Amino acid sequence: MNWILIDKSRTVQPEKGKYSDWKPILAFEGKNQCVYCSIHQNYFGGIRNFHVEHYRPKSKFPLLKDKIQNLYYSCPVCNTFKGDDWYEKDLTNLNEIIYPNPSITNYFDLFEVNLITFEIRGKYISSNYMVEKLALNRTQLILHRKFLILQLKFEKIINKIEEQTSYLYYLIEKTGDITLVKQLRKLNDSRKEVDKVRKELFNSSGYKSRDTKRN
Ligand SMILES: [Zn+2]
Repeated sequence: MNWILIDKSRTVQPEKGKYSDWKPILAFEGKNQCVYCSIHQNYFGGIRNFHVEHYRPKSKFPLLKDKIQNLYYSCPVCNTFKGDDWYEKDLTNLNEIIYPNPSITNYFDLFEVNLITFEIRGKYISSNYMVEKLALNRTQLILHRKFLILQLKFEKIINKIEEQTSYLYYLIEKTGDITLVKQLRKLNDSRKEVDKVRKELFNSSGYKSRDTKRN
């Protein structure tokens, strides 16, 4: 859901080693998330569990096996589902069955998220094909999107409470009206309540909330 354009313009072909040695380079370049489903490695057991993905499959393009420009960082599920699936067509035509090039096309523009079911839909033939082929509506990803969207909603509510709190502080300071302190206490209680619900929800979802350090 947080897809990004993978900037390969500054990625230099390493002089030593082979593709499996370059996972940290690809992780950095891909912001530690799967190029196809955008799940962050922290929700998948970290870099150990992530794969080096051959955009053009190595079985069909052996000469590209160790070319860094052909490599991306992906979760094991997407990598496995994609396998050696490939269509050598015009890779800029999004309305063809192709895998759009993640360093040319921003995948964020390829999908839309249903905010009720948390499923995604491809906006083009290519991205619709990817949703099917890579099972981008698998249960784990739906739960993950739900978690991210709820997280955003909580942050919005908390920001609102904090804004109102600082406005009340400002008013009390300015007017000396201590009857406002009662409202301030109410806001503090609401803030605590929201934090409590957030904790309960995320504990039961098995996810850690965002204030947990991400690497
Ligand atoms: Zn993935």
